Amino acid sequence: MTYECGDALGILPHHPSDLVHRIMDRVRDPDALVPLPRSGELVPLHQALTQHYALHPVSVRFLQAVQEKLPENSSDRSQLEAIMTDPKIRRTYVVERDYVDILSQYPRISWFAEEVTQTMRTLLPRLYSMASSPSVYPAEVHLTVATVRSHIRNRMRGGVASTYLADRLPLNQPILPVYVKASNFRLPSDPSTDTIMVGPGTGIAPFRGFLQERLHTGATGRNWLFFGERRRQYEYLYEDELASMTRWGILTHLDLAFSRDQNEKQYVQHLIEKHGNTIWKWIDKGAHFYVCGDAAHMARDVDNTLVNIVEKHGNKKTDAAREYVRAMRKNKQYQRDVY
Ligand SMILES: Cc1cc2nc3c(=O)[nH]c(=O)nc-3n(C[C@H](O)[C@H](O)[C@H](O)COP(=O)(O)OP(=O)(O)OC[C@H]3O[C@@H](n4cnc5c(N)ncnc54)[C@H](O)[C@@H]3O)c2cc1C
Repeated sequence: MTYECGDALGILPHHPSDLVHRIMDRVRDPDALVPLPRSGELVPLHQALTQHYALHPVSVRFLQAVQEKLPENSSDRSQLEAIMTDPKIRRTYVVERDYVDILSQYPRISWFAEEVTQTMRTLLPRLYSMASSPSVYPAEVHLTVATVRSHIRNRMRGGVASTYLADRLPLNQPILPVYVKASNFRLPSDPSTDTIMVGPGTGIAPFRGFLQERLHTGATGRNWLFFGERRRQYEYLYEDELASMTRWGILTHLDLAFSRDQNEKQYVQHLIEKHGNTIWKWIDKGAHFYVCGDAAHMARDVDNTLVNIVEKHGNKKTDAAREYVRAMRKNKQYQRDVY
């Protein structure tokens, strides 16, 4: 298996066994063999629930099956009908619930294993940006994983893949199956090109690989990293390594935004704005601008900031600045890996 900086690793996670057993406890035939999603191959229910079927969010098909099994004219049935008929309420309802929630909410309904699994979606792999350079670590892949956990309705919930990696995967055992997802997120082909990397939170992952690669290959271009998190004390990822990279001169500029460390929240886009004039000079000379991490807020805010910088420091009208940034994206001077 080979990879390049910027690629991601696909991982097929396993569910925690307590979640799987809570479902098995609710069916009449927990030892049954059930068909797998695509192949139809028969496997034990335990295996199917652990590795092949998604337990969250609960599917609309399953809620329909519940509805059909509830006694007509019962209050449970009419309540569920009301949820199912309003698409907005239904969407929120399923996102907040998994199969265990629904099976325990209606304890009198009796199920055969296959009745339940045939309403389930396939458990999909999750992607993680490679945080290492294959030139430096040819036989390893490093990942930067944020563990997703939340407390909802009296139960601790965890993201399947991130808690699998953090809690359940035994050390020194191969994670299988994994695959390499090739990406267009790439270092400049000319090693003398400067780079500006914006990677708050786990968005730092590919940039760690980029910096390792540029150090290893002796690339002469300057490198500027913007990193951010909530608190410096707990969430300054790779602090020691970034200090070394700065000492060795490969990281020429490092700007940090820890949003909760002062009264007024500070994010990476604020620092980018602050350095707008210098950033414009770098970009104007061909520096590549990279953004990785949160798509919902950060990437959009950074994108707006970039347009503002081009407008203000490049002396352009708003439309021309937008067109300039669009052209940067088209010719790969501006690349994003956001999720
Ligand atoms: C190209 C790419 C690169 C990426 N790189 C990285 C990276 O470098 N690092 C990184 O950390 N992530 C990265 N991601 C995101 C990663 O793929 C996952 O989406 C992320 O780790 C969450 O996956 P999960 O399986 O842990 O959570 P999921 O199981 O997918 O959970 C999603 C949401 O559902 C909720 N939920 C889950 N189970 C339940 C339940 N039983 N009941 C109620 N709610 C529940 C969770 O609380 C969470 O809010 C990347 C994504 C892409 C597309």
